Amino acid sequence: MSIKIENLNYYYGKGTPYEKHALKNINLTIPDGQFIGLIGHTGSGKSTLIQHLNGLLKSTSGKIYFNDVDIYKEGFNFKKLREKVGLVFQYPEHQLFEMSVYKDIAFGPKNLGLEDEEIKKRINTVIQKVGLSSEVYDKSPFELSGGQKRRVAIAGVLAMNPDMVILDEPTAGLDPKGKEDILEEINTIQKETQKTIILVSHSMEDIAKYVQRIIVMEEGTVRYDDVPKKIFSHYKELEHIGLAAPQITYLVNKLNDQGFNLNKEITTIEEA
Ligand code: ADP
Repeated sequence: MSIKIENLNYYYGKGTPYEKHALKNINLTIPDGQFIGLIGHTGSGKSTLIQHLNGLLKSTSGKIYFNDVDIYKEGFNFKKLREKVGLVFQYPEHQLFEMSVYKDIAFGPKNLGLEDEEIKKRINTVIQKVGLSSEVYDKSPFELSGGQKRRVAIAGVLAMNPDMVILDEPTAGLDPKGKEDILEEINTIQKETQKTIILVSHSMEDIAKYVQRIIVMEEGTVRYDDVPKKIFSHYKELEHIGLAAPQITYLVNKLNDQGFNLNKEITTIEEA
């Protein structure tokens, strides 16, 4: 599954005194199976962009192609798009509402019209992927810890078996250990399933360790789009817009001063 974005512009409140040009001429290609970090300051346009990817917002101008099909052409099947592009909102646990964890995860697959047996199979698979076990099935989602609730919400999206999963700040509000655990789980899911995953974050540190590609947004534009190593070579500019993880850039510089050739990914630099 691939997505292509061409000259995308989006205005909130167009023609009103509150008009906001939130996306400015965005061009991006998202191929199958990539693990991407989408990063930028609050207000840089990340949420607006991802809501275009599953059709929740419609561009003011510009095009989006889903598997080479223009999604704004009449008759396009948005229901199918939303099945294929799973979106995990910020604080997704706020949308848990069923009496039991099992029912909550089953909600999406049920809507797809799947048989009970198939739903069960999917839930048994995804519950493990998010680091929980069947022991939580009968619990009320409200009995769970913050991190567990979030896992249930993520499992609900995974159970729809989307080709692409977009996670908006999946670690928001979790403690450092909870953050790391959930990022590790997402990383494992990506490696095992080879799904396209877009991890949205305002923290370079959170994503630098895992993703293959980083898209940096600034004031509604794509400022950088490259492999992490190349992104970090812009560390001065990134620091300027408040994004670099100082300890990583410090380490990179220090090692380069010592004659290391850092043409490795950032994960291996940490081991060096
Ligand atoms: P991010 O996800 O990077 O924090 P957003 O996509 O939420 O950024 O916001 C991009 C810009 O659009 C910001 O300036 C924000 O204030 C504005 N914006 C977001 N949502 C709305 C809205 N519903 N109405 C008006 N302006 C909005």
